[in-house]
Amino acid sequence: MKDITVAEVVAGIKSGDISCEELISGIYERIERSELNCYITLNRDKAIEEAIRVDKNREAYMDKRLLGVPIAIKDSISTAGIQTTCASKILTGYVPPYDATVIEALKREGAIIIGKTNMDEFCMGTSTETSYYGPTLNPHDHTRVPGGSSGGSAAAVSAGEALIALGSDTGGSIRCPASFCGVVGLKPTYGLVSRYGLIAYANSLEQIGPIATNVRDTALLLEVISAKDERDSTQIKIDNNSNSNYVFKTEKNGEDVRGLRIGVCREFLEGVAPEVEESVWHAIYKFEDLGASYEEISLKYLKYALAAYYIIAMSEASSNLARFDGLRYGLRLDMDADWHTTFSRIRGEGFGEEVKRRIILGTYALSVGYYGRYYLKALKIRTLIKREFEAALRAYDILAMPTMPCVAFKLGERIKDPLSLYLADVNTVPVNLAGLPSISVPCGVFNGLPIGLQLVSGQFQEDKIINAAMAYESSFKVFSS
Ligand code: GLN
Repeated sequence: MKDITVAEVVAGIKSGDISCEELISGIYERIERSELNCYITLNRDKAIEEAIRVDKNREAYMDKRLLGVPIAIKDSISTAGIQTTCASKILTGYVPPYDATVIEALKREGAIIIGKTNMDEFCMGTSTETSYYGPTLNPHDHTRVPGGSSGGSAAAVSAGEALIALGSDTGGSIRCPASFCGVVGLKPTYGLVSRYGLIAYANSLEQIGPIATNVRDTALLLEVISAKDERDSTQIKIDNNSNSNYVFKTEKNGEDVRGLRIGVCREFLEGVAPEVEESVWHAIYKFEDLGASYEEISLKYLKYALAAYYIIAMSEASSNLARFDGLRYGLRLDMDADWHTTFSRIRGEGFGEEVKRRIILGTYALSVGYYGRYYLKALKIRTLIKREFEAALRAYDILAMPTMPCVAFKLGERIKDPLSLYLADVNTVPVNLAGLPSISVPCGVFNGLPIGLQLVSGQFQEDKIINAAMAYESSFKVFSS
C-alpha cells in the first residue's frame, strides 16, 4: 500500500487491472487485524457497495480523479449518514444530515470513505490521547503516541488502513501526526479550503487538509478539496488562482529548486532534540545540493506565539462549544430537571477533562476585566507575528524548520501535564496565527521513529512548498522499505 500512489490506483481501477471491491475489502481486513485504533466509526457496508458499483460501471467514471480511492476522514468533519463524534462522548450517536463541502468534493471525484478516524476530543491535543474512544497507537512503535489531533488519520495512512486521509489543523494537528507517523501532511492557507461542515474548535485558525504517503498524492487531494464554496464566508476567493494546479507543479520534480531561497529561523531550532535538529540540517544541506541556498534569520516575536495561540484558541473554543447543550446534538440524559441543571449535567458528563479545562480558561480570558489583558493582547501579538512572517517571506521563498521538537513520545508520558503537551506545538502554532500554508515531509528516522521537516511559504503559495517538498522527496529516500 505504501508504495502505490493514488494515480496508480485510479489508473488500475479504470483499466480493470485493480478490482475496487478487493482493494476496499483488503483495507477492512487490515483494519480488523490492526490494534492501532485508528477509526471511531467504519463505513464498511456502504463502502463495499460503492466499490462494487465502481467495478461494474467503470467506463462511466473515466473523468473521476479519485475513482475508488479509499480515504479516511477525521471525525471532526461532517459526513451525511455516518456518525460524527469529534471523539467526544457528548456527540456520541450524532449523525449529521449533510456533508461538509470537502466531502461533497471527494464524492464527486469518486473517492470511497472507509471511516471516521480517531482524534483528540474536539481537536484539543497533540497526541490523540484525549479521545473518549481511547488513544491511537503509533504504527512505528505501539508504545508511543501517533501525534495529534489527527492521529487516527495519519496512523491509518502510515499503516495502510487507508490510502489517503483528511485531517484538520488548528495549531499543528495535521503536521504533528504526519511528522510522528512518517507521512506527508499539509495545512493550507487560511481561507483556501472551505470549513463548511468542519466542527469548529478555533475557527480563525483552522483548515482542513490532506495527509498522504507522498507529496504528489498530497497535492492531488489538496487540489480536489480546495474548490470554491459560497457557504464559507471566510473562504478567500481568488479568481485567477494560477497557483491552484498543485499536481502539475509536482510533475516537474527535482531540479527546479535551483535558486530557491530558504530562510532558517533560529528560534525554531531552540529546545529541539539534537537528533531532530541534525536531521533537519541534513535536509537543508540536501536542498543546497539541489541548487537552493539558505540563510539563518531571526523572528523576534515568535517567543510569544505559543501563549498567544493558546489564549486565542481557548477563547474561541469556549464560545464555539457553547452549542453543545445536550438538546440539539448527541448525548441525552434521562432526567427531569430544569434547563440549567440539564445543561450542566450533560456538559459535565459529555466533555472530557481537557475540553473542560479549555472552556474554563477561554471563558476566563474573555471575561470583563481580563479581555484586554489576555485576548486583545494575544490578537496584537498575532498581528505582529503575521507581519514578521510576511517580511521574512518577501526575502525568502520558503522557511524551513523541524515540524516537531522531538520524535513521538511514549503513551501516557505527557498527558498528565498539559503544559508539556502545549509546548510540543511550539513550531506549528505560529503558522496558524499567520494563516500561512505549511507542509510536513519525512526527513529522517531516529531509533525507528520518523522525523518531519516543515516548510512554510507565503499566503496561497502552496505550490512553492509542494514543489520544494517534491524535489526533496524524489532525491532523498527516508524509509528504505
Ligand atoms: N495541539 C494544538 C491544540 O491542542 C493544536 C491542535 C489542532 O491543531 N487542532 O490546540
